[in-house]
Amino acid sequence: MKALCLDGRLSLQEVSTPRPTPGSALIRIILAGICGTDRQILKGYSGFRGIPGHEFVGEVVECDAREWVGKRVVGEINISCGSCDWCRRGLSRHCSYRTVMGIIDHQGAFAEFVTLPVRNLHEVPASVPDEAAVFTEPLAAAAEILEQMPVASGTRAAVLGAGRLGLLVAQVLRNVGTQVTVIGRSAGKLEMARSFGLTTARADDAGLRPRSFQLVVEATSSPEGLETALRLVEPRGTVVMKSTFHQPAHFDTAKVVVDEITLLGSRCGNFQTALGLLKDGAIQVEPLISKIFPLEQGVEAFAFLDNPDCLKVLLANRA
Ligand SMILES: [Zn+2]
Ligand SMILES: [Zn+2]
Repeated sequence: MKALCLDGRLSLQEVSTPRPTPGSALIRIILAGICGTDRQILKGYSGFRGIPGHEFVGEVVECDAREWVGKRVVGEINISCGSCDWCRRGLSRHCSYRTVMGIIDHQGAFAEFVTLPVRNLHEVPASVPDEAAVFTEPLAAAAEILEQMPVASGTRAAVLGAGRLGLLVAQVLRNVGTQVTVIGRSAGKLEMARSFGLTTARADDAGLRPRSFQLVVEATSSPEGLETALRLVEPRGTVVMKSTFHQPAHFDTAKVVVDEITLLGSRCGNFQTALGLLKDGAIQVEPLISKIFPLEQGVEAFAFLDNPDCLKVLLANRA
């Protein structure tokens, strides 16, 4: 099969098609999404070598559980052991022995096929098109914030970063009644946020008062975002950290102590929650697609992401 492979640099290669082990499914990829984490992986985050890609929608083509064959699916990216302490406590996304598709020791979705355990799969409702279903993983990650902390209706929230993830987080927060301001740099992305009915501000806007938001979500993919978040959050407020960067971030810990700020790390989320939001049409995702490249042009697709107004880039594996 064809796949994008990372071994110091990214290239399209012909590799052997994976074989499903018992309890796993072979999935033909229909669409795969490139996210900020993939770009960090190319820079060395996680030390991954192999086929990246963890956001996809596909079709099961081979599986010992016959009822799955032919189903359109999305897949959870953490492959857990099922028996360690964390797994037994229902926290399998934190399994000590987990592999992570396209990130840690498991081949990813920038290929014609992937394998995943059947327990990782979720059938996509018929009313959700491929172009929306491919957002299940990042939307689940956006909605994870609501599983980690209570967010009251009317909360003054800021989302730092008007990119792929920021625009999903902002919509998820608005959906539960918070007053959201999306803060970004790119005029095109802020325009997109306004087209969703969201309030926006430019990152350098003098009208942005320090200590004025109860909740600030950092989704800039840059270590400086955390400093800005700490400036904008009010005392006793919460900063949710959504970016994973390869470099360490530097910030003023005294500010966290003195203002009694809660820092909350946030990663993957619940796929059923995300599929429910997509099915209800509660979150707009398809306008975020900037361009769809064929898998064969995956290297060009990554380069296209350097365009500052670019949001989501997808790779299509059309048979
Ligand atoms: Zn991702
Ligand atoms: Zn485990």
